[in-house]
Amino acid sequence: MKGMSNILKYFQDPNSKDINRYIDMIKRLDSFVGKHVDTNKSRLNGEIECSYYDYLKECRLSYESKDPTEVFEELSELFKGAVRWNNPGTMININPPANLPAAAAGAYTMFFNPNFAQDMLTGNLIKSELETCKYLAELAGWDWESSQGIFTFGGKSTVMYAVKVGLQKCSQDIGKKGAKEDIFVVSTSQGHPCHAEVCDWLGIGKDNCLKMPVDEKGRIAIEESEKIISERIESGGILACILANGGTTIQMTVDPIKEVTEMRDRLARKFSLNYLPHVHVDSVIGWTWLFFEHYDFEKNPLGFDTKVLTKIRAMFLRVSQITYADSFAADFHKTGFCPYVASVFMSRDKTQMYGLGNVEPIELNELEYGNYSPFQYTLELSRAGTGPVSALTTLKCFGYEGFQKVIGSLMTVGEYIKAAINENSEFEVINNETEGFVTLFIIRQPGENIKYKEISDMDSESAARTAEYNYYFYLYLIDKQAKGECTFVLDYSEGYDKTKSGVKIGVLKAFPMSPLADAENMRGIINELFEIKKEYDLCREDFSPCEVLHKPRAFVCR
Ligand SMILES: *Cc1c(COP(=O)(O)O)cnc(C)c1O
Repeated sequence: MKGMSNILKYFQDPNSKDINRYIDMIKRLDSFVGKHVDTNKSRLNGEIECSYYDYLKECRLSYESKDPTEVFEELSELFKGAVRWNNPGTMININPPANLPAAAAGAYTMFFNPNFAQDMLTGNLIKSELETCKYLAELAGWDWESSQGIFTFGGKSTVMYAVKVGLQKCSQDIGKKGAKEDIFVVSTSQGHPCHAEVCDWLGIGKDNCLKMPVDEKGRIAIEESEKIISERIESGGILACILANGGTTIQMTVDPIKEVTEMRDRLARKFSLNYLPHVHVDSVIGWTWLFFEHYDFEKNPLGFDTKVLTKIRAMFLRVSQITYADSFAADFHKTGFCPYVASVFMSRDKTQMYGLGNVEPIELNELEYGNYSPFQYTLELSRAGTGPVSALTTLKCFGYEGFQKVIGSLMTVGEYIKAAINENSEFEVINNETEGFVTLFIIRQPGENIKYKEISDMDSESAARTAEYNYYFYLYLIDKQAKGECTFVLDYSEGYDKTKSGVKIGVLKAFPMSPLADAENMRGIINELFEIKKEYDLCREDFSPCEVLHKPRAFVCR
């Protein structure tokens, strides 16, 4: 065919084992993107065009093929404003910088493009999934030989797996006939929003994801919950699954997992259920604390300060109760510092995993190359190998100790931020007790002496004023950031709380995720924050945000 060579050069020559063209393409793309990188900033430089409509209007796909270099130059425009998660001042949410060996191994894996639908399409590579899951089972204190894990497309889909296993347990025919009964799922008021969303996707309905009440620490209130669940069962409800928290996104709240399983057992006895409702721990963030299993908390070899050590230990003891649950999940793309996406759903009993596809379990000693076909029971059909390869690379590179250092360092920085912010009387940290590393805070007008706790009792007008003052400060920050006048990025948690008069209160949030954050660079960032606050107070009256990257919904919603 005429001109084929033009297109064939986009593929690796089967007669060559030279990978340099691949690496060279990455370098070429970087030569364009790199120009936008300012090592002092949280985002890549360059204007971000705000209206997608204006952008899309001008987009035309060419008829002719284009040279990759030309395409990379165009593509580099899209990297403008991209977030540099490794920057210590990038404190938005639980988005990690990808560790280099994991990103490299993941990118290299793409070159061979294995399909983790079944082992035949991956060669040995699928062992990376089996091996990672063995380590996770061991971290949970489970018998790795009878458990099974699977990589999937996100923390959200790990919850989907859990609820699906629960459905399978409570209603044998559900796979064939669909849900006929009044099925419900239990989460808590602190549970991730995706718990209810998953119930929607699975046809159970959001309203049938019951949000249990919590105690003052945000943990499930067992007694009250047991009553609510009992009432629902008495009126014909069928409990498929309990979703316990194993480290919530912001406050790192962990439910009393053992007590939750005991409550489940009591309910099963009381109502003579012919199945055990499934107990899953949504530990997509909290799982990494399991690496403190062998940490000598007495000798404290990594030298954490007392406060940090106490919090880590308390968190570890709570998370390690995962051992009592039926399943749990780990997001390597969160506290595992892997590139997206790398989520694992772990089932203590592998027959339940195979049951998802109605297939007979294969005994571990019979599982061998040629008969391992996860696609029979996974939600996905084609599955990427980048997640498992990145995850295993990270586990091996970091080891137990590496995870202890990374988590310990984020905890140390989190405590540092709280202490530093509390020193300024125009700031107030509102989550000093958290066992996570997020700092939530509010700001006050100069000379004002309102405490966060008092906002709750304010009349709606005063509360709204305080709320707006904080919200506009956040807008002021992103405005500065868009103009390149601010080196850090914070986040804002809208509707974090509600006053007695019904006004929604949002708070500012500093979520450090870079292992390269330390007291020294944080000092600089916090000083910058204090300076910007002074500046804001001077121009508060005239400020109207213009170049806003991300506009959260209005602060006050009534
Ligand atoms: C992030 C998160 C999820 C959703 O996970 P994705 O990987 O974003 O799909 C679920 N639960 C908790 C507690 C989370 O923090």
